[in-house]
Amino acid sequence: MMDSRIQRILETLRELFPNPRLELTHGSPYELLIKAILAAQAPDKKVNEITPKLLTSFPTPDALALADLSEIEEKIKEINFYKRKARAIKEASSDLVERFHGQVPEALEALVTLRGVGRKTANVVRVGAFGLPGIVVDRHFERVATRLGLTTAKDPERIERELEAMVPEEERARFSLLLINHGKSLCTAKNPKCKPCPLKQDCSFYQPQLEL
Ligand code: SF4
Repeated sequence: MMDSRIQRILETLRELFPNPRLELTHGSPYELLIKAILAAQAPDKKVNEITPKLLTSFPTPDALALADLSEIEEKIKEINFYKRKARAIKEASSDLVERFHGQVPEALEALVTLRGVGRKTANVVRVGAFGLPGIVVDRHFERVATRLGLTTAKDPERIERELEAMVPEEERARFSLLLINHGKSLCTAKNPKCKPCPLKQDCSFYQPQLEL
């Protein structure tokens, strides 16, 4: 049975965000995979802006795997760590071609074998492209889960495991998206908007005396 706190958080955030979604827009699992790799420590908005240019020139894993690194770098040079990321998306594309017939796999265990793909990126793809269960521990999720007192862990994999133990499989994708959406709109890193937040009663971080 679902923990009553998790259930309350889910119900409350569902009302706030009836259609929670990733900010990374995508037309295919491959596009989301590339964007998720590029989005590490970079704003999703910027990644949405520059990726079409890249994928128009290299629309498939084969094309990106064969592309010159310098050409890839040129297309994504507006985002941070672009050299490292150019290599990562080329290597991940080569792995897709060599081991997965150019198709993005659905299984977490398979996704994390792609070079440049960690658990967060793998879960973004599972949740965003395939609608499969996954706890996406990005910085927004981590912050909101910590403030709500759902975890005290610092290691993302530990946080993922702890939340997996609390959130039923069929709710994990939605739960991830709801916490991320909340973290981007009200529960922001600086100056969280606690006054209008409907999760005050469930929040360990909330301090009424600090409300403006
Ligand atoms: S009360 Fe404030 S800190 Fe707590 S979840 Fe809401 S916005 Fe975040």
